[in-house]
Formats: sequence, C-alpha cells, structure tokens
Amino acid sequence: MNLFLQKTLDIFFPATCHVCQKDIFSGWANAFVCPSCFSQIHGETFTKVNLDPLQYLFSPFSFEGPMRSLVHAFKYGGKDYLGTLFGSFCAERFPFDKGFDSLVPIPTSYWKGWCRGYNPAELLAVELGERWHKPVKTKWLHRNLFSISQTHLNRKKRMTNACKSYSFEGTVSVKGQRILLVDDVFTTGATLKVCAELLLKGGAKWVAGCTLAFDPLKTD
Ligand SMILES: [Zn+2]
Repeated sequence: MNLFLQKTLDIFFPATCHVCQKDIFSGWANAFVCPSCFSQIHGETFTKVNLDPLQYLFSPFSFEGPMRSLVHAFKYGGKDYLGTLFGSFCAERFPFDKGFDSLVPIPTSYWKGWCRGYNPAELLAVELGERWHKPVKTKWLHRNLFSISQTHLNRKKRMTNACKSYSFEGTVSVKGQRILLVDDVFTTGATLKVCAELLLKGGAKWVAGCTLAFDPLKTD
C-alpha cells in the first residue's frame, strides 16, 4: 500500500493494542500488541519430558501479564484471528523434533463452541498444521455434551471431571499414530493426560502435548 495512504488510514482507523487498548501506528509489525506490551510478554517457556502419559509437553509462554490478556481475548473475547499470531509464536519456539503424524486439538464443549463460534485449541492446531504440513484430526476425541468446565475446579476435581468429560471416537486410523495434542492453556494437565490416555487406548503409538501458555501458579 502507498505509504501516504497507509499513514492517512492509521490516523482515522488506527489498530488498537489488545492489551492496553492504546493505538498502534504503522511501522510496527504486530497488528495486535503495541511494542511496549510486546516487550513485557514473558519469554519463559515450559518444557517437560516424560510427563506420563505424555512423551513431552511444551508451552511457549507463561499465562501472566500481557499474555494473560491476549489469551483471554482469544478464548473469551471473540478474537479468533489471534490464532494466526499464536500459531506463529508456538511454531517459532517449538523445541522438539516434529516427528508426529497428526495434531489433535482438545475439543471444546458443544455449548461453548456454539456461543463462541470456534474452538481456540482447534484454531491453534490448524495454524500449526499449516506451518508444519501435518493433518489436524478433530473427530478422534469427543467432548461429552453435559461436561462441566474445568476452570473453577481444584486439582483433584479436575482429574475426576476430565475423565467424565471426554471420550474416544477414533477408528483404526489412530493405530500407530504419533500424536501432538494441542490446547490453549496448561494448568494442572488433567485434560491433556486424560485425552492422551484415551488416544493411547485407541491405539496411538505415543502422544505429546503443546499448549500456548502454562499457568505458573498451578503447574507442577
Ligand atoms: Zn499495549
């Protein structure tokens, strides 16, 4: 676009930072986060191997500060387009060999999916799948219709609730698959562990996990 036209458009329709709500003017590559907030996004990553039954778990960001606001906007604020930015964050920082066959997003509840119009975990998986040329399988796991949200449950109740909330719907196509489970936030890991167990029982060779952020207050 013509630079003069871009600058004129910026004055009348500036992009707004999704964290501090201040205007973002052109010349800054990121359309959603201003340079100041971007500099505060926590650089710490979370990596754990042999997190039984997961081969490994990776999260590129801590769920605090500006990242917390951004993830909230993604999960609850209808900002589905942030999936592209988050996908690039995850892909750039992913430290493991990409020797998996399929990406499987953690399914959302029917009601949440209906209200939001999208599943944040699925958007993230699709972004990663496009970058890594891996298929995304959304039918292998099923979120049961009347499952309860994990958000306000303690660690013990989360595990019990997760066991009741998901079921395996895959076919023989799961057999021998090396799978990367994808979710938005890692808290206690109950959901990822239960879903990994289901896929392993269904015949997967191994399962690992990748989430956009980890909650440092709840992660072991
Ligand atoms: Zn900002």
